[in-house]
Amino acid sequence: MSFSEHVEQLALEKAKIMYSFMEDEVPTLFNRKKWKGKIIGWAVQDQDFRSRLLRFVDVLPTLKTDSAVYKLFQEYFSDVDAIPPDVRIPVDRLSRRTDLDRIIPVILKRALDSLAAQFIAGKTVADTLSTLHAFRKQGLAASLDIVGEEVLSDEEADHYVNRYLEVMNVLVPAARSWQEMPLLDTDDRGPIPRLDVSLKATSFYSQLDPVDWDGSILTTTKNLAPVFEAAREQGASVTIDMEQYYLKDITIEIFKALLLDHPDFEYPGIVLQTYLPETAADLTSLVDWARKHGRRFGVRLVKGAYWDYETVINPRKGWPIPVFLEKEKTDLHYEQMTKVVLDNIDLIRPAFASHNVRSLSYAMAVAEDAGLPKNALEFQMIFGMAEPVRKAVQKMGYRVRAYIPTGELIPGMAFLIRRLLENTFSESFLKRSFFDNTGMELVRSPQLDESFVQPPASVGFMNEPVTDFSRARNRSAMYDALATVEENLGNRYPLIIQDREVFTDETTFSVNPARPEQLVGRVSRATSGQARDAVDSAREAFVAWKKTSPQERADYLFRAAAEMRKRRFKLAALEIFEVGKTWKDADGDIAEAIDYLEYYGREMIRLGQTTMAGAYPGEENLYFYEPLGVGLVISPWNFPIAIPTGMVSAALVTGNTVIFKPSGLSSVCGWQLAEIFKTIGLPPGVLQFVPGPGNETGEYLVSHPEIDFVSFTGSREVGLHIVSVASKTEPGQKGVKRVIAEMGGKNAIIVDETADLDEAVKGVLDSALEYQGQKCSACSRVIVIDSVYGDFTARLQQAMNSLRIGPTDKPWNFFGPVVDQASAQRIQKYIETGIKEGNALLARPGPENGFFIGPHLFADLPLHSSLVKEEIFGPVLVLLRASSLDSALRMATDSQYALTGGVFSRSPQNIQKVIAGFDVGNLYINRKITGALVGRQPFGGFRMSGIGYKAGGPNYLIQFMHERSASENTLRKGFAPFL
Ligand code: NAD
Repeated sequence: MSFSEHVEQLALEKAKIMYSFMEDEVPTLFNRKKWKGKIIGWAVQDQDFRSRLLRFVDVLPTLKTDSAVYKLFQEYFSDVDAIPPDVRIPVDRLSRRTDLDRIIPVILKRALDSLAAQFIAGKTVADTLSTLHAFRKQGLAASLDIVGEEVLSDEEADHYVNRYLEVMNVLVPAARSWQEMPLLDTDDRGPIPRLDVSLKATSFYSQLDPVDWDGSILTTTKNLAPVFEAAREQGASVTIDMEQYYLKDITIEIFKALLLDHPDFEYPGIVLQTYLPETAADLTSLVDWARKHGRRFGVRLVKGAYWDYETVINPRKGWPIPVFLEKEKTDLHYEQMTKVVLDNIDLIRPAFASHNVRSLSYAMAVAEDAGLPKNALEFQMIFGMAEPVRKAVQKMGYRVRAYIPTGELIPGMAFLIRRLLENTFSESFLKRSFFDNTGMELVRSPQLDESFVQPPASVGFMNEPVTDFSRARNRSAMYDALATVEENLGNRYPLIIQDREVFTDETTFSVNPARPEQLVGRVSRATSGQARDAVDSAREAFVAWKKTSPQERADYLFRAAAEMRKRRFKLAALEIFEVGKTWKDADGDIAEAIDYLEYYGREMIRLGQTTMAGAYPGEENLYFYEPLGVGLVISPWNFPIAIPTGMVSAALVTGNTVIFKPSGLSSVCGWQLAEIFKTIGLPPGVLQFVPGPGNETGEYLVSHPEIDFVSFTGSREVGLHIVSVASKTEPGQKGVKRVIAEMGGKNAIIVDETADLDEAVKGVLDSALEYQGQKCSACSRVIVIDSVYGDFTARLQQAMNSLRIGPTDKPWNFFGPVVDQASAQRIQKYIETGIKEGNALLARPGPENGFFIGPHLFADLPLHSSLVKEEIFGPVLVLLRASSLDSALRMATDSQYALTGGVFSRSPQNIQKVIAGFDVGNLYINRKITGALVGRQPFGGFRMSGIGYKAGGPNYLIQFMHERSASENTLRKGFAPFL
C-alpha cells in the first residue's frame, strides 16, 4: 500500500472514531434549541441578516446609554423582515409592552455578554485564572491571548507589554501549583510549559509597517523582549500569531530576530496560514533556518482567519488576492503542510489548530504512519467553538490546547466578529457538519472543484496599484532610486519652448526642505519675452494638434503612462527630495499621475465620437466637441507630479496646446513631466515648459490675450486673483478666457458616539497628518460628540505624539518637513495664535535643521478663531466639541470652503443625515478623507474651494472643449434619406 493510500485509510478510521465519540452532541453555537444557535442559524441562511447582525454586534459594546442601544437596534432591524421568525415571536410579544426602550437594551446587552463569554474567557487576570483552572480540570491545555490588534500609539503598545507581563508574572506562576497531568505537561521529549501565550506583533509597535523594514523589526523585537524574557524565566511558551498577509513576511522576520536575541528561550512558536499558497515556501525556509541555527520551535498550522479581509482589501489596492479562493484548496494545502511539519519534527513542535474532523484525522494518520507517539503533537481549538470535536480528540488520547482570548469586549470585537464570520460562513466545516448535518461526507480527502471560476478580470480603466513595500524587491528599488537621484541632484534645468531647451541666467533654486543646504536643482525662469514666444509657438502648433484624432492624442497619454511606470521609483524619489513626501505618499502621487493619463486617454476616446442629438426624419443633428485653443496650466507643489499631469494631460488630450508653469517649489518635478512628454515624441509646441515666479511669469501669461483658458490648482487667494485678471479682456482678444480653478479647503471630520474609535483615531490621524497636513483634502477640524470626546482626544493625542519625525528619505520617518521657510513661518503664526486663544493639547517641535513643524493639536478655541476658519495647510489640527450631530453638522458646514469632509459613525440614520447635510465636494464615510482615486472618487469642491468639474471624473474633460452642434435639414424636394 502506498503512503497516501495508507494515510487515507488511517484518516478515515480516525474520523469514524471521532464521530462515534461525538455521539450526536452539537456545539453550543449550532444548537438550534438555544437562542444562540437560532441566531447563528438565521445568519447562515440569510445574508442580509448576517451582515446586519455582524454590524450591530460590532457597534453594540461601544454604546454608552440604553437609549443609544435602543435607537441603533431600531435602525438596524426596523423592518420586520430583518428579524428572524424565531426571534420575532418574543419580540412581538414584547412589543405589547410600553417600556420596550428599557427592556430591549437590557436583553441585548445580556445577549452580547453571553455571546462574548462564549469566546472571551474573562476581563481580568483573576477571571481568566479561574477559567484556565476550570479548563485544566477538563483535561485541556491553554494558550492565552490578550484581545486587541493594531495599536495606535506608544502608550497603547506599553499597555500590551504590561498586560502580557502580568500574565507571565501572575498566571504562569499560579499554573505551577496545578496538579501534574502528564498528557498536558509533557510531550515525547519531556516536560513542556503549562501555559502558552499567543500575541500579535502589531500590538507591540504602533508604527510597525514593512515600508520601514529594519526599524519595524528592531523596535518590535525590542518591545517584545521583556515578554520573551519573562516567559523564559517563568516557564511559558510564546506563539506569535499571524495577521494580515501584508504583515506576513515581516512577522516571520520578527520571529527569527526574537529567536536570535533570545538563544536560551526554548519555547517560541509561530502561526502559519494554509490559505496562503506562499506558506509552502515559508515553511520550507523556516525549516532550513531552524536547521542552520540549531533551533527548534513551535508551528501552529491554521487555515487563516482574515479571508474576507484579504479578498476585499487587496483587489481594492489593485494587488493580487494572496489567499486561495476555494476552500478545498486551503484544506488540501493544510494536509500538505501537515506532512512537512511532521516530517521535520526534529525541528518543529507541531500544533494543528483546526475544527475540521478531516484535517485533524489526517494529521493523526500521518503521525501514526510515521510512528510518532500521540503526545508528540497537539491539537488546538478555539475556546467556545466545536466542543464535541474537542472532546472527541481528547478521548482519543491527544493533547488539546484551547485558544483562550481574554480582555475587554471592545478591543475583542475584531476577534468576536472573526468567530461569527467563521461560524456563519457557508463553506465552514463546522457549519456544514453541524448545521447542514453533512457528517462523514466531509471526511473524504479535499477535492478541487473545477467549477469554481475566478472572477473575470475587469476591462476598461483600472487604478494603477500602489507599490507594495512589504516586498523586498520594491524596497530595494526605492533605495536604489533614492541613491541615484541624490547623486544627480543640483542640475540646471531649461525651459522648453517649441522644441528648444532654453537655459536662462536667472534661475529658481529648489532645495530639499528636510536639508535646505541640499540643492535639488536650479530651474530656468522664463522672461516675459520667452513666455510670449511660447504662446506664439502654442498658437502655431494648435492648428495641426487640433486635427489630430482623439485616439492618436490618447495614445500619447498612454505612452507617457508607460514611460512613467518605467521611471516610477526615480520620480517618487525626486518628490521625496524636492517636497518632503514620505515613501508611500510619493509613490501614491506617481500612481495617481499614471491614473490621470490612462483615465483621460480613455475618456477622450469616448467623448471624441460624434453623436446624433434626437432622431427625427428630415434632419440630422450632429453633436461634437472641439478644443478651446491655447491653455495655461498653473500647478501647486503639493502633488508635484500628479496634479500637473492631470491638468496637462486633460488639456492636451482634448486637442489644446499647453503652456505649463509649475510651482517654483516643485519645478524639478515639473521638468520631469515635460521631459516625459518630450521623450515620447509629442510634437513641438504642443506642450511647453515655462517655469517662473507666479506673480511675474504666471501673471503675465494669465493676462496674455492669446491664452484661451487657464487651468489652475492652488490657493484661494491666487485662484481668485487669476479669475479676476483673466476676466479682463485686452484689445483684439477674441474670446472670454475660461478659468478652471481648484482651490483650498477647511475640511472637517465628524466623530459621533457610535464611531469605531480605532478607525476614527487612525482615520483622523492620517487625514490630518499625512504629508504634514499639506493636502488640500487634509482634515483640519475634527468635531467630536461629547460622549466620546474624552476617549477620542486622549487616543488621538497619543497617536500624534508617537509619529516619528525627520527627513522622509528614511522610511522610518512617517512625518517630514513642511515645504519651505515661508510655509513654516506662516504655520508658526497660527500656532502662536492657537496658544493664545485656546489650549494646545499637543505641540511637538521638529528637528532643528530643515523646515520642520511637528504635529499640533488645539482644543477650546473660539469658533471665530482664525485656526477654526482659515486654511492653515500644515500639521495643525483643531478639535471641536459638539453636543449633538445637528450641532456638529452646523459647525462642519460653517465654512466658505466645501472641499472634503468625513464622518465616523455606525448609525445608518446618522450616516444618511450627514450625506444629506454635509455639503462638500467629497464626503467620506468611515475612512480617511484624503487619497481620492481617479475614476472612483472624482475630486473637487465648490464655494471657495473651486470652480469646474471634478478631476478624475466623467465631466472633467468637457470643460477643456467647446460643444458644437451642426443641424442639417436633409429634406430636399420632399425627399429625405432614411434615418
Ligand atoms: P499657490 O496658490 O501659492 O500657488 C499655486 C500656483 O500658482 C503656483 O504655480 C504659483 O507659482 C502660481 N501663482 C502664484 N501667484 C500667481 C499669480 N499672481 N498669477 C499666476 N500664477 C500664480 O498654492 P500652493 O502653495 O502651490 O498650493 C497650496 C494650495 O493649493 C492650498 O491652498 C491647497 O488647498 C491648494 N490645492 C488645491 C487642490 C484642489 O484640488 N482643490 C489641490 C492641491 C492644492
